[in-house]
Amino acid sequence: MAQQEDVFKKIVSHSKEYGFVFPSSEIYDGLGAVYDYGQLGVELKNNIKQYWWQSMVLLNDNIVGLDSAVFMHPTVWKASGHVDAFNDPLIDNRDSKKRYRADVLIEDQIQKYEDKAQKEVDKARKRFGESFDETLFRQTNPRVLGHMEKRDALEMRYKKAMEANDLAEIRQIIVDEEIVCPISGTRNWTDVRQFNLMFKTEMGSTADGAMTVYLRPETAQGIFVNYLNVQKTGRMKVPFGIAQIGKAFRNEIVARQFIFRMREFEQMEMQYFVKPGTEIEWFNYWKAQRMKWHQALGFGTENYRFHDHEKLAHYANAATDIEFRMPFGFKEVEGIHSRTDFDLRQHEKYSGKSIKYFDPETNESYTPYDIETSIGVDRMFLTVMCHSFEEQTLEGGDTRTVLHLPAPLAPIKLAVLPLVKKDGLPEKAREIVNNLKFHFNTKYDEKDSIGKRYRRQDAIGTPYCVTVDHDTLQDNQVTLRDRDTMEQRRVPISELQHLLEERVSLTSLLKKLV
Ligand code: ATP
Repeated sequence: MAQQEDVFKKIVSHSKEYGFVFPSSEIYDGLGAVYDYGQLGVELKNNIKQYWWQSMVLLNDNIVGLDSAVFMHPTVWKASGHVDAFNDPLIDNRDSKKRYRADVLIEDQIQKYEDKAQKEVDKARKRFGESFDETLFRQTNPRVLGHMEKRDALEMRYKKAMEANDLAEIRQIIVDEEIVCPISGTRNWTDVRQFNLMFKTEMGSTADGAMTVYLRPETAQGIFVNYLNVQKTGRMKVPFGIAQIGKAFRNEIVARQFIFRMREFEQMEMQYFVKPGTEIEWFNYWKAQRMKWHQALGFGTENYRFHDHEKLAHYANAATDIEFRMPFGFKEVEGIHSRTDFDLRQHEKYSGKSIKYFDPETNESYTPYDIETSIGVDRMFLTVMCHSFEEQTLEGGDTRTVLHLPAPLAPIKLAVLPLVKKDGLPEKAREIVNNLKFHFNTKYDEKDSIGKRYRRQDAIGTPYCVTVDHDTLQDNQVTLRDRDTMEQRRVPISELQHLLEERVSLTSLLKKLV
């Protein structure tokens, strides 16, 4: 585990060192859980967004895009339930003055019992070797059973308290479990309070009565309030979908793990409107489709899993998360929810306007059901970085840091390197860049030795480099180097576009989805 944390730290500093992600307002010591994307980060992020957008809007005749505003009428958030219920329970430690999410403290405690049981299992496996039967051991070993009993009892008590929104009981659980603040080491806890995660601001001057507005905590509501506009003007027939990419804001109490949990982040959401009664079928369809999208990147099927929700939000009748194995464990990257007709009905109720869909085939009006797929761009970015980062020891003991980014997502697809800065080689290299830059992101680099330039391109994930040498001037061929295998081969300049275009374009990924 410690080793994994180490890797994660390296990924964070690598991201900064090479211009992928910077802490916001760094010269003022940063702003908690807000980050800026640098010159390479913005390219990678845009490519991720393009991959998602095209998989939705280009590949599906019945899915269209939308770009709704961050600000919305405040009643939207009343109707959606965010004003009353978008809360996290928080607790402060009086000695360290640190704030925690009470639910996270308890969930960590549940995990601790599981870890203790796992330790016993690991110890026994070492002792018994080949003949070890884990299932039998878990069923019979008194120490494992003891830890698991405590775990189950705690989980049951916690779930009950959360369902009843019993904040005093949640505090009591923290006290009874003797959970201490990791900073002060004490159990001097305040009461538990609910904390709304929406950022508020004022719109208009106070003279004409300023209105409290919110920074949207999700992009979905912009889709719901526009669904009938889009349906009518686009002459859409159920089932149809609306896709949107945009910023969302949440005043997260505990923001940790780099860009995993941010206060300003970006979401890619698609709401798919279906006939009531068909929603579970569509839920299963999108579940499979979204997993395919992730796995097309080639990060290994074993690094993904579904986490189906047992306890459903009041508006959902099915829900699952797609989790990815980050260096700090399996974590949610995307949520897929069958949200029934909850949101549309709420907006009908609060606006007083009918937003029913008229089905021309059956001549009836109804409120469609909705399947939502919702993925964080930043979390996806982190997934890509975590899987791609490698410190490799090469034959002969040399090391290199390489980002094995899928070529269609890489910020730069091809670096063109003149062997030396003279003899007409820079001019020849620039000529190649000027021809290829219309087709994919091609960059020129002449600084440092060729070896150093290769290393630098490896570190930023550039899948291909070509070197222009003296022979090039005679035979119009260059040396093409592959980032992952480091293999080099001579190819005619005239073939470069044809050779690389298919491999570095999103088309190669998109074709895996249909
Ligand atoms: P979590 O349980 O991690 O807080 P959530 O279940 O509240 O997430 P959703 O409301 O389902 O998340 O949002 C959909 C997606 O948006 C998540 O799967 C995640 O990728 C992304 N997301 C949510 N909150 C954040 C955040 N604070 N920072 C970055 N991405 C986020």
